[in-house]
Amino acid sequence: MSAWQHLYSSRQWKQLRRHQLAFEPLCRFCLDSDVVEAATVVDHVKPHKGDEALFYDADNLQSLCKPCHDGTKQRIELGQDVVTFGADGWPLG
Ligand SMILES: [Zn+2]
Repeated sequence: MSAWQHLYSSRQWKQLRRHQLAFEPLCRFCLDSDVVEAATVVDHVKPHKGDEALFYDADNLQSLCKPCHDGTKQRIELGQDVVTFGADGWPLG
């Protein structure tokens, strides 16, 4: 539970989230690997860290599936190199 958790329960966020998933219903990271996966998580491209301007910025949103959000995204935020692999088993460059 972080200090800005309350932002996610705001009515404005719920509306924004619904619009984002309607606008981009598929996981963006999966699509990059030619995988069609329904998105369930609306993620902030740039971590908002409680900044409400960034938090409510529709241009800062992307749709992800849960595994992508919990895996890849967190590693990127931790500054680790993330290698993604294509369907043929080779890293995507
Ligand atoms: Zn995904």
